[in-house]
Amino acid sequence: MSRETPTTAPATDLPLPPPNAESQAFWDAARDGHLLLTRCTACDAVQFPPQHSCTACGGTTGNPFTASGTGEIFTFTINHRAPSPAFKARAPYIIALVDLAEGPRLMMNVINCAPEDVKIGMTVKIVFEARGDMALPQAELV
Ligand SMILES: [Zn+2]
Repeated sequence: MSRETPTTAPATDLPLPPPNAESQAFWDAARDGHLLLTRCTACDAVQFPPQHSCTACGGTTGNPFTASGTGEIFTFTINHRAPSPAFKARAPYIIALVDLAEGPRLMMNVINCAPEDVKIGMTVKIVFEARGDMALPQAELV
């Protein structure tokens, strides 16, 4: 049984991640609607989050590329208790680990669907939720 899709709270009140020198290009691409990953030039491992060295081989050079924007829900939880007043209007909301088609696993919200409609293994597409001057990658069911 499906409930009505919850109303999305104003995103401007929600917390923002602090960009740094290694992640600024990622956040710039996100604001433009692209999910930016990096492929290690030494071993081809795909890196996320943005960082100075490859977690697979320690190499320090990589080529950024735009991800396909698709993934699969590895697991998820439904949060009923808002951690701050800004999240209260969103509760209950879905926090998921999404395996991107390119390999990295990202934590994000699954938005625009009722919590009881989400299942492990579902295909999602990455969308970008504007928050102030930034945009966060989030997932929607396909
Ligand atoms: Zn590497």
